[in-house]
Amino acid sequence: MKGLLTLKSLSIDQIKQIINLAIDFKNGLKVDFTGKKMVTLFYENSTRTQYSFQMAMLNLGITPLSFNLAGSSVYKGETLYDTVRTFESLGVDGVVIRHTQDVYYKELDPIQIPIFNGGDGTSDHPTQTLLDLMTIYEEFGRYEGIKVALVGDIAHSRVAHGNAEVMKRLGMEIFVSGPEQYNDHTCPYIDLDDAVKTCDVINLLRVQFERHKEDMNITKEEYLQKYGMTTERVSRMKKNSIIMHPAPVNRGIEIESDVVECERSRIYKQMTNGVFVRMAAITMALRGELRY
Ligand code: ASP
Repeated sequence: MKGLLTLKSLSIDQIKQIINLAIDFKNGLKVDFTGKKMVTLFYENSTRTQYSFQMAMLNLGITPLSFNLAGSSVYKGETLYDTVRTFESLGVDGVVIRHTQDVYYKELDPIQIPIFNGGDGTSDHPTQTLLDLMTIYEEFGRYEGIKVALVGDIAHSRVAHGNAEVMKRLGMEIFVSGPEQYNDHTCPYIDLDDAVKTCDVINLLRVQFERHKEDMNITKEEYLQKYGMTTERVSRMKKNSIIMHPAPVNRGIEIESDVVECERSRIYKQMTNGVFVRMAAITMALRGELRY
């Protein structure tokens, strides 16, 4: 298969190559794929991922097509495979997919055009991981030895799962923090008050209410005080450390509203970098350099 499905099967060199190309794009590199068309097939809501993929396409001269789920034949029972195969037959040159099912792309093996994973269930979100890494690299100029706390609803977060795997391979030290009920015990636990004193990156995660089967059993105010990034915690952060969040943010739950755009926050920079990493992934895939 072609495209970018998961970073798990890419080598560290390939991952660094995508990020380096993204940095080149940020520095003004131009690549032109005029005449190509790509479609974004989103079975789950999205603002950043969907539109930053479309911005990336436009920057590369590619025409983006949006898929209107509500008006599509998905509601007549059409399968994911049949939908993607249809777009391939219509002549699109690539497809970006977000789906509720983990590893949905397994069933798309016969598809010949590049597929870009815009998030699969609670499993992975490779372009988010790349833009997070690019943001960290721009800040610290390295990965090795950088301490990252993934904070919040770890169990339901594809961003936490995708980031932890690659960050560990890059020699970063990864901790998790947040409520015990959302800890999946894949990384050592750190109390948030210790994390703010010792970690270089506080990588906040959205509480994924839509994936919860049960109530949180804690009020929003309590959550913020116990597990959220408050201005008071910001004042105790390690020198030169930063705050990241994949967004959308729940203001007043995992992050106090004033922290969203505080001096330590890189949240909007992450979004800007997202366009460049998506330009890089599309470019490499269309050149046949990303395969599984
Ligand atoms: N936008 C990210 C995702 O799709 C993070 C989030 O929704 O919490 O996983």
